[in-house]
Amino acid sequence: MIPIAKPQIGPEEQRAVAEVLASGYIVQGPRTAAFEEAFARMVGVKHAVAISSGTAALHVALLAHGVGPGDEVITSAFTFIASANSVLFTGARPVFADIDAESFNLSPAAVESAITPRTKGIMPVHLYGNPAEMDALLDLADQHGLAVIEDAAQAHGAAIGDRMCGSLGTGCFSFYATKNMTTAEGGMITTDDDSLAEKCRLLRSHGMPRRYCHDSLGFNFRMTDISAAIGLVQLEKLPAANARRAANARFLSQNLAGVTTPKERPGTTHAWHQYTVRVPDGTDREAAVEAVREAGVGVAIFYPVPVHHQKLYRELGYEVSLPVTERLSREVFSLPVHPSLTPDDLETIVAAVNAL
Ligand SMILES: *Cc1c(COP(=O)(O)O)cnc(C)c1O
Repeated sequence: MIPIAKPQIGPEEQRAVAEVLASGYIVQGPRTAAFEEAFARMVGVKHAVAISSGTAALHVALLAHGVGPGDEVITSAFTFIASANSVLFTGARPVFADIDAESFNLSPAAVESAITPRTKGIMPVHLYGNPAEMDALLDLADQHGLAVIEDAAQAHGAAIGDRMCGSLGTGCFSFYATKNMTTAEGGMITTDDDSLAEKCRLLRSHGMPRRYCHDSLGFNFRMTDISAAIGLVQLEKLPAANARRAANARFLSQNLAGVTTPKERPGTTHAWHQYTVRVPDGTDREAAVEAVREAGVGVAIFYPVPVHHQKLYRELGYEVSLPVTERLSREVFSLPVHPSLTPDDLETIVAAVNAL
């Protein structure tokens, strides 16, 4: 079976981890600081704050923006549950706006209609690595005085023009094993704002500006130097890995027939975290997925149940109707696009889909 994702861990990562273990300094330390500096440079921001997961990045970024009980944050329901749950963690209420069927991302018009006096922030998700419509969303945020927290968990290296995702609002990245780069588990918050970065650092580690001085309530969401050492190697590999993803995506788009292939918005750089197609209206998606799997292709559905239809959200009383989100959750499936695919793998994928 051609896997849907394959972490690229090689001898360089093994060596880097062995060096940290041998150094005797394994918790958050010099490797984490070096990883933060390198990541900030890649995103083009002043500060990167390494953290234990992408979920923790979103949670801490929201808290650092002062989001809490009584507030609303507008986001997508066509995403991994962590986007919305991070809002719940703060005591605020996630408000779901519908998405655009071509981009899979928040529709700025839908976001505008969802703004209320309680709205404190907008959380666009760069789904599958495709940059959200940030210009329109940043305009809305400006007009209404809202925070913008980018869920860039799938968008390492994605960009709009020469502006990297994660530098447009407060960036939140994940380094989970299947993402474009990994530290096994891990995350990063990116910002140009000195005071916001400081708040994130305090929230990350027990509100502790100096050892055993606790000015505020904080978590233990630290990254270890073992993870950071892996991250430094992965970050170096990212441009080549993303170029392979883009070449694989181009091949698929040129050769697939009978499904709607993903579009790149002109002037943007897609990170191709996932290559997601849509079956034609009325087609049995489950049968199509089963047939492609039979042909040896690891297909996945991101995401079969939109967030507002999850039991947790039903029980919280969510009854919003999101027609595009709901339709796409029935029509999409994702094909392998990761950098380890061989030319044979790509031919197998195309043959499997074109035989539907
Ligand atoms: C992976 C992911 C997250 C969460 O990141 P973790 O590191 O797994 O906590 C959040 N949002 C999206 C869109 C993701 O894909």
